[in-house]
This record gives sequence, C-alpha cells and structure tokens, in this order.
Amino acid sequence: AVASSYRGRFAPSPTGPLHFGSLLAAVASYADARAHNGIWLLRIEDLDRPRTVPGAAAAIQRTLHAFGCDWDEPIVFQHTRHAAYDAALAQLAALGLVYACGCSRAEIAAHARQGLEGPIYPGTCRAGLPPGRRARSLRLRTTAKPIDVVDRIQGKQGHVVAEAIGDFVLRRADGLHAYQLAVVVDDAWQGITQVVRGADLLLSTPRQIGLQRALGLPTPGYAHIPLLLDQQGRKLSKSLAAAPITDTDPLPALRLAWRLLGQEPLDPVRSVRDFWQRAAGCWCIERVPACLQLMSGVGDEVK
Ligand code: GLU
Repeated sequence: AVASSYRGRFAPSPTGPLHFGSLLAAVASYADARAHNGIWLLRIEDLDRPRTVPGAAAAIQRTLHAFGCDWDEPIVFQHTRHAAYDAALAQLAALGLVYACGCSRAEIAAHARQGLEGPIYPGTCRAGLPPGRRARSLRLRTTAKPIDVVDRIQGKQGHVVAEAIGDFVLRRADGLHAYQLAVVVDDAWQGITQVVRGADLLLSTPRQIGLQRALGLPTPGYAHIPLLLDQQGRKLSKSLAAAPITDTDPLPALRLAWRLLGQEPLDPVRSVRDFWQRAAGCWCIERVPACLQLMSGVGDEVK
C-alpha cells in the first residue's frame, strides 16, 4: 500500500458498552482511514471520572476488536493527559483568552438567552470576578469571528461561537478539563488529520476550530456521520441506536452499519476479516447520507 499521512481516530467515552450508534461512527472512521491507507487510533475519553463506568473501556476494546476495527498505536487515555490540558489552558490564559467565572448553572439559566446548545453565558464575570465571588469554572473569551467548515458529509457548516454558543467552559467547577479543550489538545498531539464522528458533535466543531486557531494548532478535516432518527425525526435513543452490540456475532451489525452508511453491499462475506478486506477498497464517503431516518423494522436483526 502507498504510504499516507492520514491519521484518524475513534474517541469513545467509556460510559457504557458500545451501542449501535457509536459502532456506526467507529465503522465509518475505520473505513475512511483504511481506504486512505491511513493510521487509525483509539482514544479513551475518560476525563469525566464521575461518568466513567468501570470495565467499559475494556468492553469497548473487545467490541472494536470483534468488529475488526484494530488500532495501530497504543491507546491514549485522557485521564493521563492533565498536564497537557493545563499547558494549553496556560497558553490561552497568556493570550488573555481565559477568565474565571463564579456563576452557578442556576444563576446562568436565570439570565441567559438560549443558544444553539443551551443557555448562552450572559458574560457576568467577563470583565472580572464580581466582588465576593469565588472562581468556579474557567471560560474562553469567544470572539465575533465566524468559523466556517466544509464537512465532508454535512457540507458547509459554521457559526459565530460568541453568538451561537457563548463563552464556553474550559475547566469545570469540579476542576475537570472540558471535553472541548481536551479533544483539541489530543487531536493535535496525536497528529489527527481527519475526524470522522457522529453528528451529535457537529455544533462542537466551530468551538474546536476556534481553540485550534488560538493555540496555533492545525485543523483536521471533519466528517460527521448522521444520527439515527426514528420515523418522527426524533433521535433514536431507544431501540436500534441504543442497542448494545454483541461481540460474538458481529457480521449482521457490521453489514447493517455498512448499509446505513449508504455503501454498496459486499455480500457474500464469510468473516469480519473478509468484510474489511473488501470494504476498505469500496468505501465511498460521498455515499454517506447527511440524515438517516429509519423505517420501522430496520435493524431488527441486530437488536
Ligand atoms: N468522546 C466523545 C463522545 O463519545 C467523542 C469525541 C469526538 O469524537 O470528538 O461523544
């Protein structure tokens, strides 16, 4: 195979076993990396210790392995990376882009206007912590510059973070680094060139690109695979998307994932190995639908 500079990753949070929705993201990301003769990495996003479920990271690894999605370098665990996140915070602080915020969630909710992803921080502590207030979280001072991105599946996307999201949290009141900061630091550190992940993170991308620019880090390509929606257009949280995956009989779920990703059927395939040997050469990201509304009965075979 031709050597390639492609580096992709799958970055699950170990809050439980892989469900079908996250398998879809793993399969798309793996297929895209293999189709480019690239490197594919696994990063366990276990920063949020309270939400981390013991044994989930190991279960995720077993499932990925059963599905033939094998990573090429040692797994990175985010709980080992605090020093790097602190260094990035210090770099942003030195640029005057970080401020301490003393507001509680309830206080913010009482004053905030709704943005694309919840309340927009009203800026109470932007000019300095009001007297008598104790610093809780650290926030990024967002700017009025629009951040646009051409997603390989979703097309042109973007917004002005200050208007659509607001000054967002970099370090939470409980002292944990926020996902947005950690993902940017680690994608750069791992040399990721292409991010393929679920469309639930589409709105996060402008925040991440903004942080990359502030930190002087490269911006990877982005492709957000569709969320599974039911016939009413609601997020499919029950049934299929949330169905746990069985490691013992991976082929039906693998075939279904491939079909839902809009790819030409590869049948007959006799094994997972066989599947990937053919799949890598056939993967066509242009065929992945931007939206996935499921008819009832689809996927009953893997539930
Ligand atoms: N850990 C995140 C999640 O499970 C995904 C991070 C990413 O792909 O950027 O939702």
